[in-house]
Amino acid sequence: MASTNLDINENGQIKPCDKKYQEWIANYLKKHPNPLGECQYACKEMLKAFPELKIIRGHVETVFWGRRGHWWLETLNGAIVDPTRRQFPGPIEYKQWTPDELVRTGKCMNCGEEIWRKVASLDQEYHDYFCSKECEKETTDEMNKPNSYPITPNLDSEDCEIM
Ligand SMILES: [Zn+2]
Repeated sequence: MASTNLDINENGQIKPCDKKYQEWIANYLKKHPNPLGECQYACKEMLKAFPELKIIRGHVETVFWGRRGHWWLETLNGAIVDPTRRQFPGPIEYKQWTPDELVRTGKCMNCGEEIWRKVASLDQEYHDYFCSKECEKETTDEMNKPNSYPITPNLDSEDCEIM
């Protein structure tokens, strides 16, 4: 089931999760003060400490960065426990992945765009390097360009006897 959750309460504050989870997260953040890109790792670590939680994969809608692929945890009642919440400034909206949705599969090596596509299952690892055929072609063309340092012709050619 897809869940959508805005993580701010009616007073505009970030909804706090259970105290024991908050403490674990505070401790984690002491060791990892900048958790950018660590959502998967942090969720797996937190799951070891609290096996009652469930890992949720999906994305968040952020105020400043738009849509970002993200992992977080949920309690049995569906309350969000997000160890790397700190990486996103401003309120965010959580959207759990469903099989017919786009999933972030990488970042384009050519233009830097995030790559999203439909995948059959989340149990597989996906990694895309290019957002489009055009970007892939631009990069391979670039790599296949002839050496840009001209090979210096042998200037002592007069030493060579012409047979
Ligand atoms: Zn691209």
